[in-house]
Amino acid sequence: MTLFPLINQKKNLDYLRNIIKNERVGNAYLFYGPEGSGSEGFALEFAAMLNCGSESESPCGSCHSCKKMHCLEHANLEMVYPIPIRKDQGSDSDPFKKFTNAEIEEIQEIIQKKAQNPYSKIIIPKAKHIPINFIREIKRKTYLRSQESGWKVIVIFDAHLLTEPAANAFLKILEEPPEKSTFILSTSNINAILPTISSRCQPLFFPALAPSHLRDYLLTKNVPEDHIKLIIRLSAGDVNQAINLLDADIETFESMTLEIMRAVAVWNVKNIYNYVESLTALYREDSTQFNQVLLSVSFWFRDAILLKTQTDPEELVHSNLQEEIAKFVNAFPEFDPYFALSSVENCIDFINRNVYINVALLNLFFNLFQSLNSRKIL
Ligand SMILES: [Zn+2]
Repeated sequence: MTLFPLINQKKNLDYLRNIIKNERVGNAYLFYGPEGSGSEGFALEFAAMLNCGSESESPCGSCHSCKKMHCLEHANLEMVYPIPIRKDQGSDSDPFKKFTNAEIEEIQEIIQKKAQNPYSKIIIPKAKHIPINFIREIKRKTYLRSQESGWKVIVIFDAHLLTEPAANAFLKILEEPPEKSTFILSTSNINAILPTISSRCQPLFFPALAPSHLRDYLLTKNVPEDHIKLIIRLSAGDVNQAINLLDADIETFESMTLEIMRAVAVWNVKNIYNYVESLTALYREDSTQFNQVLLSVSFWFRDAILLKTQTDPEELVHSNLQEEIAKFVNAFPEFDPYFALSSVENCIDFINRNVYINVALLNLFFNLFQSLNSRKIL
């Protein structure tokens, strides 16, 4: 059992337990892995493990320390995250000095969400970096004598967003680390961490969650069975995205996929243009969802191969579209799924490289039409 609702990563959990059992707690760790793999939540769990008053291997959940940790209000826990940088504030001042009460309240709400769901991110509007004064503030607090016994744990979320001066200030702390304290840097972008920092931290990799673990988790959230596969596929092991998709109307992905495929199959130019326009708007509003719509279209082709090769229909991602995909396979027996799949990948790649979105989409739709190998003449 863990204090926070965490999913799997058993190997890492055992590793952290052994560190405590063998009394070999280091000064600095670097927890890294793709978004939603749990590196942030496990950093908080480690803080709870280090401070729990019971003798048990896992935080007991009922002692004074565990109760405080559970709501992220423990005096031994410091959290650092990107915040908006105000122009006229000095580098030594309290990083939150220029924030209004409403802004502070908003941050507190975001932190409470994190306490309930360790996978939710602390994202503060307009925050792009972790400024130096946040690190200086932490330094000041860490060297103060703690009111609490146990270990001080400083978790730096999105550590790749430390500004260079902030990273250097952090390095200074590591040169003379305060007693009984440990720093945990968490990141989904290890390549953006300065080598001078990563070389001083013990690394711990958190792989993306396996579909089976994500599936078990989604089952506890009462997700209908016929949506689970699509959610798992669209979220690619990121629990956060899976949680967002729970709130999203998953049927929209299915209906959009079906409509796009219909427009492509009959090459209805007016509908194609409408889709280019609405997808371009979607990209500007929510690029993650845009990618998910394109992925959803690529799963249509993947499912079509499965049906064509008479694989167990249980394997289909779009299980709700089985009938329509079967009709598609009958109507276009010569379709080229590999060309279709690579066209979707290329389209996402083009857009990431700033090719005009509408040009990339038009090209995609034309390629998808070509991939049908229909004898229909344009
Ligand atoms: Zn406890």
